[in-house]
Amino acid sequence: MIFRTATTGTRPALRRVRTTVAPRPLRHRLGPAAVEEIPFRASDGVRLGLTRVETGDSGRPAVLLLHGHTASADMFLQPETRNLVDVLLDEGYEPWLLDWRGSCRLPYNETGQRYTYDDVALYDIPEAVSYIRGRIGDRPLFVVAHCIGSLTLSLSMSAGLVPGLAGVVSQGVFLTPKLAGRTSLRMTVAGELLKGRIDHIPVDFRKVGLRSKYTPLFALASRRASCPDPTCQMLHNSAWGTGASLFVHGNLSRTTHDRLAELFGPAPLWILPHLRRIELARSVVRWHDTDHRYRALPPNALDAAGRIDTPVLLLAGSENGLWLDSQKLCHDVLARRQPQLDVTYTEIPGYGHLDPFLGRGAALDVFGHILEFLGERR
Ligand SMILES: [Zn+2]
Repeated sequence: MIFRTATTGTRPALRRVRTTVAPRPLRHRLGPAAVEEIPFRASDGVRLGLTRVETGDSGRPAVLLLHGHTASADMFLQPETRNLVDVLLDEGYEPWLLDWRGSCRLPYNETGQRYTYDDVALYDIPEAVSYIRGRIGDRPLFVVAHCIGSLTLSLSMSAGLVPGLAGVVSQGVFLTPKLAGRTSLRMTVAGELLKGRIDHIPVDFRKVGLRSKYTPLFALASRRASCPDPTCQMLHNSAWGTGASLFVHGNLSRTTHDRLAELFGPAPLWILPHLRRIELARSVVRWHDTDHRYRALPPNALDAAGRIDTPVLLLAGSENGLWLDSQKLCHDVLARRQPQLDVTYTEIPGYGHLDPFLGRGAALDVFGHILEFLGERR
């Protein structure tokens, strides 16, 4: 909902967060008149970012793009490559981009109130979908979602909160999250060690300086790294200290590589307990068990997958160093447990986790699969 006040009805007093400042400007090469930035606030009071790309054609199917945690809508608009928005515009779609509360464009990124992925699934995604529907009427609405954007979308879908989508493309992970073994172990260890001392893992070495409490994390990330850039090491070699790898290095253009600190923000450590619970369950599970505000969400999204009412394309790079073969696992599990669902799996050879969207060759190697899926259902 947009601009809804936080004190209506019988709901308990809602959290106050510093959300008055507008999101950081998007980086793109579209004309200024083509970009409509909508002041958008979730019904629990949190300021989000919602952007519509104006096409001058009011009959186009809409495609909502959901970024991963600590990334932002910028990941679909990179000026330095042929990006997903370019391709969607050329193919006759109307792109919409949501900066959900885990976006690095949002000004409270490092200082705002804590949240869990329940909040994203309950508030951000369904309310953005509802707003977009209000604007596009009965035109088809697709969603293309990456990483945690996709994981939280799976929770919204299995809750029945976003019914009637024309199709969903999920990249990296969907209903069956499976992290690399050492990643889940390090998540546990890092969470315990760092509890109370820091609450975010930064990626931008220039911001934290040479000597800081974060120095050991960067030193750890630099071990056996072949690239001298500390920000790249933190993401490529360590994935915010988890030990995973977020992309195939050679797939990024030099320009994208050099602006990683702009494309990805610090990772909050306080999200780890929810992520760990999800990882242990091998399913997207709700965090809030007793808070009645979250009862619309199923305790376990995989168990509730029968509510999914839209075709799903599961995409993954063959070299995904964060979620491994979660997407293939999801396809196999759904084929067995929910054979009535329309779910397909496509693997992108030679690609990792982020490069299916950020890679310099993504328009050639990846986006065709997305367009084919959308084209068959528009
Ligand atoms: Zn590098």
